[in-house]
Amino acid sequence: MQSRYVGRFAPSPTGLLHMGSLMAAVASFLEAQRSNGLWLLRIEDLDPPREVAGASASFLSILSRFGFVWDGDVLYQSRRSERYAEVLAELLKNGQVYRCQCTRKVLLADGLRGIDGFRYVGRCRDSFLPDNGQVAYRLKVPDMEIDFLDGIQGFVRQNLQQELGDFVLRRADGFWAYQLAVVIDDADSGVTHIVRGADLLDSTPRQRYLQSVLAFSHPEYMHIPVISNAQGEKFSKQTLAPTLREGDEVQQLWDALYLLWQNPPAELRRADLAELWAWAKTHWHSGLIPPKRSVAVTLGQNFEYKFL
Ligand code: GLU
Repeated sequence: MQSRYVGRFAPSPTGLLHMGSLMAAVASFLEAQRSNGLWLLRIEDLDPPREVAGASASFLSILSRFGFVWDGDVLYQSRRSERYAEVLAELLKNGQVYRCQCTRKVLLADGLRGIDGFRYVGRCRDSFLPDNGQVAYRLKVPDMEIDFLDGIQGFVRQNLQQELGDFVLRRADGFWAYQLAVVIDDADSGVTHIVRGADLLDSTPRQRYLQSVLAFSHPEYMHIPVISNAQGEKFSKQTLAPTLREGDEVQQLWDALYLLWQNPPAELRRADLAELWAWAKTHWHSGLIPPKRSVAVTLGQNFEYKFL
């Protein structure tokens, strides 16, 4: 049987959607369409303290307004705790995961910088600590290169132990780590292709390693450049990126296509939404996107985006 393309879009409700989110939605959706595949929607609501009230619900209405259609039911990570716990228990039983009581202060004192803050040296690896409700769970990683070919960024290589150390699957505050949830959900949903922002490129070797440990198959990856402001800061809630505007869908979809190097014709800025989507579906070509992790853009007075 030929396996069918399954893509997805997986926003976190820690902020409202902005142009960078729209680009990830557009690129993953058009890639799935091009392959006549499915496109799933998953809400990554793993971190209630950081959640913005109403964000999840707004994702569904905004995506519908833009004309996105997803397949099947929306998956909410907040409802998947039991499944994550089952996988964690299995890893713990096999000795691949251990409990860790090191605080940020300890990591800071160790002073080892890594690709994602501090590198963890594995202090608690052999301590066999009990779960006192305040321990994190870490996955042991090997001293070995993990590499893969990204559909846009090309060859990626990382040594998890040297650049990161054993990483957290469940946080000390009891919340699930993104790395665990994303791997389990993509596998359980049968996702074959992941298209997302290049800010997650450094997480991919972790996810691929976890897939190997869990005997899940590896999806294909495409990491699109993220947009940043003139100071080089990624568009995000923290850098106060403007959120998507209601009633201006055509212009924003046009901008997303433009920022994805698709060269949409100028006259389509004033087309209707169906016409712009029809153009996008026929002309979409991921090969036009350059292998950059980030590109600087400016936002004009009429809210039009330009490359800097
Ligand atoms: N939830 C992540 C985000 O909003 C995306 C996760 C993914 O695509 O793997 O940045």
